[in-house]
Amino acid sequence: LSNRLQDVFANLGREVRLTPETVEIALREIRMALLEADVNFKVVKAFVDKVRDRAVDAEVLKSLSPGQQVVRIVRDEMLALFGDTQGGLPPVSATPRVILMLGLQGSGKTTTTGKLAKWLVKQGKHPIVVSTDVRRPAAIEQLNLVAKQAGVRAHDPAGNLDPVSRASGAMQEARTLGYDTIIVDTAGRLHIDDELMVELEAIKAAVQPTDQLYVADAMTGQDAIKSAGEFNRRVGVTGVVLSKMDGDARGGAALSVVSVVGVPIAFTGSGERLEDLEAFHPDRVVSRVLGMGDVLSLIEKAESVVTQEDAAKLEKKILENDFTLEDFREQLQTIKRMGPLENILGMLPGMGQIKQQMQGKIDDKQMAHVEAIILSMTPRERRNHQLLNGSRRRRIARGSGRSVEEVNRLIKQFLDMKKMMKMMGGLAGGKGGGKLRK
Ligand code: GDP
Ligand code: MG
Repeated sequence: LSNRLQDVFANLGREVRLTPETVEIALREIRMALLEADVNFKVVKAFVDKVRDRAVDAEVLKSLSPGQQVVRIVRDEMLALFGDTQGGLPPVSATPRVILMLGLQGSGKTTTTGKLAKWLVKQGKHPIVVSTDVRRPAAIEQLNLVAKQAGVRAHDPAGNLDPVSRASGAMQEARTLGYDTIIVDTAGRLHIDDELMVELEAIKAAVQPTDQLYVADAMTGQDAIKSAGEFNRRVGVTGVVLSKMDGDARGGAALSVVSVVGVPIAFTGSGERLEDLEAFHPDRVVSRVLGMGDVLSLIEKAESVVTQEDAAKLEKKILENDFTLEDFREQLQTIKRMGPLENILGMLPGMGQIKQQMQGKIDDKQMAHVEAIILSMTPRERRNHQLLNGSRRRRIARGSGRSVEEVNRLIKQFLDMKKMMKMMGGLAGGKGGGKLRK
């Protein structure tokens, strides 16, 4: 996806504002990306429609190219989809808190029960866990083991193989011994069946859970979503745990699941160990779904370093052909503040083409040389390159420790750039057009 979007950006790079056509190109890619990330197609459609509405009306920020602007809208809309969830568990007044774990077999319920117990202990809570998965003796053993690893108590009356009475037994033990949270691990099935739903409804009636967490295996994507809807209808779901986010799943399931079930994602699981549970962070999943974390962080960097005002000033200079060596140096400073040159040059307004023109020939070292040369010029020379005759060039070369050829080359590059900017200014037309010199 990353590459694909980069191409779109490259194509959008020269657009001055978002047009319906450019937006459509970007949206086509985003639609593909989301489908590839296993987001439900209905969700994709609704989402893309929303982004289109916003993008077509959007006023393009001067500091962002139209392509970046579209990405930003996409990111904002995705975050909006997740709501302002902070992850973790919402506060409840009831004690004890009762958490019912729901999900298909193998989704990660038992593992997540242990992870959650450990997480709660870290929060200063005193959880007790209980397995109601009586069909497979190994399942109870598995939870006992996980509880031991997490350092929490597992309620496990020998010989009791009734799911409902196991759950109520844990409630009783919690009340008597002062545990403040009960996590009820349940049986799963490979596919939803009525028998399981009836069992879960009975457990629910007996323990009156405060939380009903649906554990979705991020790697199974669409299947997990379908069952999420079913569990929600039959038993109710108050939050989602997205397990196995460490696999190569793109997490598209996350987007679908919130759309289908309409409840927040509470946690993500990212490994088999009990530590591998994180309170859900929407921004991370959004970056991951789009597969363009780098691009997004670059946008953020550009936003923080190049203020809109600076960008507007620069644009005005370009339009009026007022770009001086001093501006050139300022641009280099900005670039330096932003980090590795190659990644970033293309993001600055007007710099994308300059980068192309320089054909990737500048590296950070050369940049330092360029800066040294400009710094060796007097402020007057920087403002007016026409002063730079032969003797001044020789003085600058000596002062900067570079050769006269290098000084000449730099001035030529600067003049080429100015010429190009004049062309860009001319193309942009309007305000500055009449004032162009030479
Ligand atoms: P259950 O049938 O729903 O109780 O699922 P389990 O908790 O037994 O988990 C099924 C398998 O998935 C086990 O092998 C777990 O170790 C594994 N698993 C659970 N959560 C994660 C996770 O976040 N990442 C990875 N890589 N494996 C997980
Ligand atoms: Mg289990």
